[in-house]
Amino acid sequence: MTKKILLIYTGGTIGMTATANGYAPQKEAFHQLLHSMPGLNADVMPEWDIIDMDPLLDSANMTAHEWNKIGGMIADHYEAYDGFVVLHGTDTMAYTASALSFMLENCRKPVVLTGAQIPLCEVRSDARDNLLTAMLIAGEGVVKEVCLYFGGSLLRGNRATKFSSDGLIAFISPNYPLLAEAGISIKYNTSALLKPQRGPFRLRRMDDVPIGVLKIFPGIQFELFEAIMTEKLRGIVIETFGAGNIPGSGTALLPIIRRAYANGTVLTVCSQCPQGAVALGAYETSTALKNAGAVSGYDITTEAAVTKLYYLFSCGFDTDSVKHLMESNLRGEMTRRDASEEK
Ligand code: ASP
Repeated sequence: MTKKILLIYTGGTIGMTATANGYAPQKEAFHQLLHSMPGLNADVMPEWDIIDMDPLLDSANMTAHEWNKIGGMIADHYEAYDGFVVLHGTDTMAYTASALSFMLENCRKPVVLTGAQIPLCEVRSDARDNLLTAMLIAGEGVVKEVCLYFGGSLLRGNRATKFSSDGLIAFISPNYPLLAEAGISIKYNTSALLKPQRGPFRLRRMDDVPIGVLKIFPGIQFELFEAIMTEKLRGIVIETFGAGNIPGSGTALLPIIRRAYANGTVLTVCSQCPQGAVALGAYETSTALKNAGAVSGYDITTEAAVTKLYYLFSCGFDTDSVKHLMESNLRGEMTRRDASEEK
């Protein structure tokens, strides 16, 4: 039976067309282009419908509000379609993919995010392959999780990070194998796929949780950042050097950590290195973080850490549970045993 895919167009370069004021998302022109694309309407392709986010956005403007809109569109049509392809700007695609991976609880259908570096209307556009292959992957239904297809590779959504602002291979998955590679044929890496989730599908909406990200650099004057450590801040991701190291054996950061602790702010440690994991306590320079109650993000991306904090606080967990779950694997976002396998 022919599969049915819902295309959700949110904006971004893929659907932009030339206007008097430069490239801008143009719903009608983009729909026309799609309907006249021979490949997309070929017999071998799944059937498709398209709906648009309103307004269409450059993905730099995405917030939890838009994640809820996109998640809502998937949830509203979950039963009617075999899979979903979300057309999205590349700038924050890895954040949206991560957010959706948490929000779509027990999702057992393919949700493939894709976009392009060059608009579909252009001769050298990378949109054609990205879109057509994403549609085929969604139609084949081998991968039943939130993923991101770009430049020949299928990545787990919450493992992806944008690494090139102008290359046609714009995303990498530094700490997890590719889910599939699209060469002459699409080869799935079946052992890397998420085990099908049990339980009823449901959408968990995200709240506007106040989250921070602090990148450590040589000579950082921590006192300048103390002001952001207010009671309002629910969680902060600290991007440390290497395996979790901060300057000054952590002593300069201590006032900040203590304040975070007193306020119940969850402090998650990630690495600035795209590849590898945080190992708190391995060096003296990270022990202070560990002793002060910071949690390790292990090999999680900053994108997944930020959206996981949003998600866990939106679920209403208390601080201790959020800390515990930040160190547990929920959707394949970190190389750790699953939360469900813990005693
Ligand atoms: N600024 C654009 C966006 O993220 C870039 C892109 O789509 O590639 O919406």
